[in-house]
Amino acid sequence: MIINLYISNPRGFCAGVTNAIKASNELFQYIKERPIYFYHEIVHNHFLTKELIKKGAIFVNNISFVPDESYVIFSAHGVSDEIERIANEKNLKIIDLTCPLVRKVHKEIQLHQKNGMDIIYIGSKNHQEAKGTLGRLNESKFYIVEDKNDVDTLKPIQIERLAYISQTTLNVDKVKEIIEKIQKRFPNVVGANVDSICHATKNRQNALKNILNNHEIDLILTIGSDISSNSNKLAEIGSEFKVNSYLIEDKNQIESEWIEQNMKIALTAGASAPEILINETIEYFEKNYNAIIHNVVFIEEDVVFHPPRLFRELKKRFETQNI
Ligand code: SF4
Repeated sequence: MIINLYISNPRGFCAGVTNAIKASNELFQYIKERPIYFYHEIVHNHFLTKELIKKGAIFVNNISFVPDESYVIFSAHGVSDEIERIANEKNLKIIDLTCPLVRKVHKEIQLHQKNGMDIIYIGSKNHQEAKGTLGRLNESKFYIVEDKNDVDTLKPIQIERLAYISQTTLNVDKVKEIIEKIQKRFPNVVGANVDSICHATKNRQNALKNILNNHEIDLILTIGSDISSNSNKLAEIGSEFKVNSYLIEDKNQIESEWIEQNMKIALTAGASAPEILINETIEYFEKNYNAIIHNVVFIEEDVVFHPPRLFRELKKRFETQNI
């Protein structure tokens, strides 16, 4: 059997995840105390979470469970004012690995609040990023829109001072539709020109669409965890193009009945999916299906983020002691 495998680029780790994972792994060298506490999974990927647990990480969803004065790592999704307040009250040593692009959304929503706006937030109410972002508000009212139908049922207390903002990891086309609907219902609404979806989410979606537009793809495989927002949004693109699409954790979840002779398969990966799982999947297709590999580059990414001050201080202290 021969298949053609079209590998989408960019795929996998974005700058925010690279920064968070690299820093988290290095911290096990710089901090001697164990366990090291992580408030929430550092990024939404089961494989990476398990790897950190093996090293001595404890993940907590309640900041009160972290013993006073311990180190605590904040995940790339960001936290609310309340979580920061409790962490400071407990004298926790915070290493905040919130992605700078999520932090930018926090600043934007707070600016809207300062200008007296109420907020229409486009995103998933149960997602950690949504909780962190909306938890930055203490005066403005907010209304959550998860899909376009929610726009019809919005009943804002006042409609003259409304602003919209979105989660960073959503489906670009669906958010565009939602924004158009919001603008139609509330003509005075203000917001970013398009949305707050980050460049990494957009690039991964556009790279996959580029393959779908230029090759007759029979199947899409997206590597990523079921809890990862941007991985789910990549997999959902299949329904827009009417192509079978599966979100898989790794190669072990590929079902042999999905694969047929001469198939054209598009392979992508969410921003939190590690490269090792992508490479294993490519090898699996080469070995079992004589896959012909096509690397399709839509855009090169050169964004780099850096870890926060406390991380840099710990690193410097470690290096000085080990000279
Ligand atoms: S997906 Fe976007 S917002 Fe999330 S960590 Fe990556 S760059 Fe940051």
